[in-house]
Amino acid sequence: MRSMLVTGGSRGIGAATARRAAAAGWAVCLTYRSDQNAAAAVVAAIESDGGRAAAIRADVAVEADVVAAVEATTTLGPLGAVVANAGIVGERTRVDALTVERVSTMLATNVTGAIVTCREAVRRMSTAHGHDGGSIVLVSSAAARLGSPGEYVDYAASKAAVDTLGLGLAKEVAGEGIRVNVVRPGIIDTGLHASGGQPDRVARLGPDVPVGRAGTADEIAAAIVWLSSADASYTTGSTLDVAGGR
Ligand code: NDP
Repeated sequence: MRSMLVTGGSRGIGAATARRAAAAGWAVCLTYRSDQNAAAAVVAAIESDGGRAAAIRADVAVEADVVAAVEATTTLGPLGAVVANAGIVGERTRVDALTVERVSTMLATNVTGAIVTCREAVRRMSTAHGHDGGSIVLVSSAAARLGSPGEYVDYAASKAAVDTLGLGLAKEVAGEGIRVNVVRPGIIDTGLHASGGQPDRVARLGPDVPVGRAGTADEIAAAIVWLSSADASYTTGSTLDVAGGR
């Protein structure tokens, strides 16, 4: 059984991805930053469905934590997939009110965290080091191309960096049997919006999405698990919008 690391797997899109991946036969290591109980509940749900999972506390903004999380994943089985999902959005604000502290935390989590996660994945997966390749999926956002004016331009910029990371890395490691793809969710019904100070955002903006509603975490998870699977063996360097046409 090959293993998959899902960063930020205790809630929302990451939790849904962990559950779907386990049902598809992956041994899943999920990380959380603060909510151990939520992570334990995801592991328990997977195990009660007959799957294999473990949870580890890891802040993706801390290099040593990411290294430890990848290491822990390999104890479940040979590393086959990494999903760089953990991310933060910050309070809704115009650029006037942005602080360097907020932007630094945003970039450390969403950009440096994703880059270090990819680095550790490549170190473990590269055929150049005697492994047999694998899949990396980066979770970006529709904000990367919409810019999020008046809400969080710093978040949008951080996700644009994630898009570019995926494009370059896919070409860099293709010859080593590693596929890299990016998923760009639209407005998804998770706790992210409340954590950004906008608990009503899904209800407010959902009807304006072309399909008339916000998406679910499981709809994003389906795309991530497919991209991680052998069915996507010829798909690399792609950026997949899962955004209801937004
Ligand atoms: P949630 O807020 O529901 O979940 C976030 C997860 O990430 C939690 O498990 C949280 O753990 C973890 N996390 C946050 N910061 C860190 C960190 N520094 N280190 C490790 N783990 C961390 O968010 P979503 O599921 O909605 O978002 C997942 C991804 O999808 C993010 O990258 C987000 O930007 C992206 N996305 C979401 C959209 C949406 O509408 N929901 C739209 C577009 C993109 P803990 O709870 O323990 O802190």
